[in-house]
This record gives sequence, structure tokens and C-alpha cells, in this order.
Amino acid sequence: MRLSRSFVPTLKETPNEAQIASHRLMLRAGLIRQTAAGIYAWLPAGWRVLQNIAQIVREEQDASGAQEVLMPTIQSADLWRQSGRYDGYGQEMLRLKDRHERDLLYGPTNEEMITEIFASGVKSYRDFPQNLYHIQWKFRDEVRPRFGVMRGREFLMKDAYSFDLDYEGAVIAYRKMMLAYMRTFQRLGLKAIPMVADTGPIGGDLSHEFIVLAPTGESAVYFDSDFENIDWLKSEYDINNPADLEAFTTQMTSMYAATDEKHDTKTWATIPDARKREGRGIEVGHIFYFGTKYSAPMGLAVTGPDGSKITPHMGSYGIGVSRLVGAIIEASHDDAGIIWPDSVAPWKAGILNLKMGDAACDAICEQVYKALGGNALYDDRGERAGAKFADADLMGHPWQIIVGPRGAANGMVELKRRATGERSELSVADAIARVTG
Ligand code: ATP
Ligand code: MG
Repeated sequence: MRLSRSFVPTLKETPNEAQIASHRLMLRAGLIRQTAAGIYAWLPAGWRVLQNIAQIVREEQDASGAQEVLMPTIQSADLWRQSGRYDGYGQEMLRLKDRHERDLLYGPTNEEMITEIFASGVKSYRDFPQNLYHIQWKFRDEVRPRFGVMRGREFLMKDAYSFDLDYEGAVIAYRKMMLAYMRTFQRLGLKAIPMVADTGPIGGDLSHEFIVLAPTGESAVYFDSDFENIDWLKSEYDINNPADLEAFTTQMTSMYAATDEKHDTKTWATIPDARKREGRGIEVGHIFYFGTKYSAPMGLAVTGPDGSKITPHMGSYGIGVSRLVGAIIEASHDDAGIIWPDSVAPWKAGILNLKMGDAACDAICEQVYKALGGNALYDDRGERAGAKFADADLMGHPWQIIVGPRGAANGMVELKRRATGERSELSVADAIARVTG
């Protein structure tokens, strides 16, 4: 895109409603605008990031065998009366009425709806296991929406729902999701640590929250430094092989990780000091096994091979897709602005024309822009060089291709890596190769 013709409304001033870095930077870099408390519009740059994140989430869900669907945002209250959650859900639920005075709601989550849909189509015990997910907007009327998209009222979530014939099957579905999550967060450039979470009346240990480390996080966390070192993308676990999933689970449980509430000081004391890590974190995902909590009241049942009635076991698996945009920025920024990981950046490179109207600068910029296509944001505004440097750092492009008259006269450009600040002078062709390579 050409910046002169793009709607990327960057701000020089720090907006005073924003308390944390990611919220400030998302407003300043022109990613979002608030339209009501906890409700945001995604502008071109922000929308590109959100879609990049959603696509990585999607690819890893698909690789685990989950199938994508799309359920509506508006749900019938009757569905929730069936599960018994309608009254109990409380004020976080946004309740609506249609013209016939029928009760509707804007979905805060989809357990009831997916259970009904699945029940209406499943025919036999042979249809199991299955896992269905969607990436859809949710609404929760949070008491204190804050920190921008981190705790919004309308937010984008990936939620998956697994269906298995028995507990053993559900455990496999759960482990698949856990491995898929470790890979997803790594691809997003994050260190995410799974922490055992409350299971409530269900019991057992099949509930984990995934926490991304950031000093502004809402929860205090304690964990084993091994979590920082494992490469889940290179690990050879086959997500479709139960034995591999078992080995993966053994590896996971061998490493300590806990939030403040679950922290066990006795076990912690047995861990060598060099491996102890403490910090704060942001919850970006939550996976949960809940047995027949929804299948039983919603009437999901199939006949087993021996004629007996089977009530399927379910789990649900959430990722806060829009919260991740904030979490990634919390984990990756400096005083000058955002430092996007390559995988989610709205543009891989910014092209900075330091002297618009200079024949050599213009020609080189056009050449680079043509070669990089949609992966580049070309700063072709009639602004001073200083303003272009500041905006490029603020917007956080992984690469900056800086084109000034002195270098351009010799066919050279400067290439800057945002994360390290490293700069090198290269030929146009070499710069393009580095960015696309
Ligand atoms: P929290 O404790 O932060 O309120 P939760 O336990 O209510 O989260 P879940 O119901 O497990 O969250 O939802 C799955 C994921 O959706 C969470 O891990 C989080 O990343 C995201 N999420 C939940 N509430 C919000 C919100 N208000 N704004 C943005 N993302 C959210
Ligand atoms: Mg909540």
C-alpha cells in the first residue's frame, strides 16, 4: 500500500485514556479506534494483523484435524434455558428481544449452540471423534472493560468443541489441542506457558490456561525455564499419534508452571534456582474438559455398538484472537513503538522514501514496491525524513528499506531490522532478497 493513500491514522501524542503500552501503541499506530466502551473498529493495519493471527490459529487447528464452521453471533435464549445457563450467566450476557418479543442474546460462547448443531447431525457412534471450531465475535458485558482489546466487550475468539465417546477419547482430543496451542503461540512469536486451571465441579486436571509473559499481565506466574527453550515446531510429536501425545503430556507435566493461586511453594523449592522463573502474564487461551455437562441436558446421545446409550464427552478450547494483538505488543515493543514478529506484521517491510521528487529515490522506491507488492507499505508522503523514521518505528514493520538521495545515486539502499536496530547498506536486489528470503 502507498501510505499517502492509506487510512493509517498515526498519532504523535500519547492518548491519555490508554494505561498500558499495547493500548497506547494500537491507538498511536492507527490499528484501532474505540467506538463505544470496550468496542473497537479495526482499521486497515489492525485488521491485517488480526487476520494474520486468525490464519495461523486456523492452520494449526486444521492440522490437528479440527473442522472450521461459522456459527452466528446472535443466539436464542431457549438454547441457554435448555442447558440451565440462561439465568445464571448474569450481567455479562447481552440480552436482546426481537420484534416478536422473543428473547435473544449476543453469544458470549457457543457450547449450547454447537451441542445442538452436532446433535442434529450425528447418526452413529462411528461418527466420533470430531472437533468443530469457529473464529467469531463474542460479546461479554465486562464490568470493567480496559486495556483496549485485551479486555473488550466485543472480541474475536477461536472456540473449538470436541466430541468423544468416552473419557479416554476426550483426553486425546485435549492433548491434541494442547500441542496445537503450543505450536500456534510459537508461530505467533510468543512464549506461552500452560498453567493448570480450576475445573470446578468436573474435577480432574484437564483445564489449562495459556499465559503469555508480559510485565503488565493480570496474573503472577511461576514456571520452569525449560518452557523458554523448547521448539514445539521442530519437536517431532505427531499430533495424530496418541503415543506421541502421551509423550508430549509427560514432557509438559515434568515442567513446573503455576499461577499465583495454584503456586505450590513446596514443589517450587525442589526446583534448581537457575531454572526458576517468575513474572506476570496475560491469559490468551483456555482449554477445558467438561464431560457431559452440556451433552446430557441438551439431549446429545448416540447408540453404542452393543445397543447401549452413550452420552458423549466434550471439551472446549478458546483462544482470544483479538486479545492476542495486545498481548503480542505487550511482549514485543520498545520506546519507539511496536516490534511485530514477522508472522503477524501488517506489512513485512516499510519503504521509506527520504526525498520524494528525487528521480533516483523515486525510481528505486517504485522498483522495491513493485517487487514486494502487498507485503510492503510505501511511505511516499511529502513528510520530513525524521517523521518517516518515527512512524516506521511506531508501526513496527520487521524491515525498513530506507532510500535516500546519496545511496540512491549509486543504486544502494539501507536495510534496517526493527527488532535489533541493525542496519546495512545493500544493493536494491540484495535488500529485496533479504526481505523476501
Ligand atoms: P478472563 O479470565 O480473562 O475473563 P475467561 O476465563 O472469561 O477470561 P474464556 O471464557 O476461557 O475466558 O475465553 C477464552 C479466551 O478468550 C480467553 O483465554 C481470552 O484470551 C479471551 N477473552 C475472554 N474474555 C475476553 C475479553 N473480555 N476481551 C478479550 N478477550 C477475551
Ligand atoms: Mg471472563
